[in-house]
Amino acid sequence: MPTEVYDITIIGGGPAGLFGSFYAGLRDAKTKVIEATKVLGGALVHEYPNEVLRDVAGFVLITAERLAERFIEQAAAYDHTICKGEKVTALAFDNAKKVWKITTDKNDHFSTTVVLAIGTLQNLQKKYNVLLDSFKKIGLKTNELGVVVDAHMQTNLAGLFACGDIIAKPKEMNFITIASAEAATAINNAKKYCNPEASTFPGYSTDIRKGK
Ligand SMILES: Cc1cc2nc3c(=O)[nH]c(=O)nc-3n(C[C@H](O)[C@H](O)[C@H](O)COP(=O)(O)OP(=O)(O)OC[C@H]3O[C@@H](n4cnc5c(N)ncnc54)[C@H](O)[C@@H]3O)c2cc1C
Repeated sequence: MPTEVYDITIIGGGPAGLFGSFYAGLRDAKTKVIEATKVLGGALVHEYPNEVLRDVAGFVLITAERLAERFIEQAAAYDHTICKGEKVTALAFDNAKKVWKITTDKNDHFSTTVVLAIGTLQNLQKKYNVLLDSFKKIGLKTNELGVVVDAHMQTNLAGLFACGDIIAKPKEMNFITIASAEAATAINNAKKYCNPEASTFPGYSTDIRKGK
């Protein structure tokens, strides 16, 4: 049973979760990713691996499968803990330990902050309804579009963030480029939650590694 407390635990290994995981590395956060399936990449690999994407920032044409490989390669720049084939079934704040407890079908995990990157509400309703029940129990604010967040990707519960297709936004905003930006925002604010002295602006990536 893992008892170690992580700074940031990201639930979901799709584009939002993978870019978030890379970004958490950039922010020197002790990070874990928990993905329900045995394969990282989310909708890119599970729903349309052979389709060609034309609207991802910086890519002219790329197949979904290849794009997933790029996300995975980028996330692998940091040596985070990745738990594949583990479905998150419940979330609860552990009042004694003052951390989030993430329960899966295999283990309990502990983390100062949690970032939900779990795809569309419709998919969740189909596959992971039990997690939605847990959201109700802890009083997580949701609506018919998804999990409600503010501009910092913070939910109504302290230390719990969300990004990507799960957040309450119009369906026509379910784009990979948007999910990636939301993931970086969620991570920057999770970092600040863990360490109030930290800036939410990490500087440009072109600068932060200079001199290290
Ligand atoms: C057919 C189709 C075509 C598309 N074409 C484009 C396009 O051309 N351009 C574009 O920008 N976007 C496109 N999109 C949208 C894009 O794929 C999504 O916006 C993007 O995948 C969102 O990423 P995400 O990480 O939020 O969610 P997802 O990719 O859905 O990933 C969520 C991950 O969370 C995991 N998860 C869920 N619940 C749990 C749980 N309880 N425990 C652990 N893990 C869990 C899932 O297994 C999944 O891997 C398309 C979508 C579809 C369906």
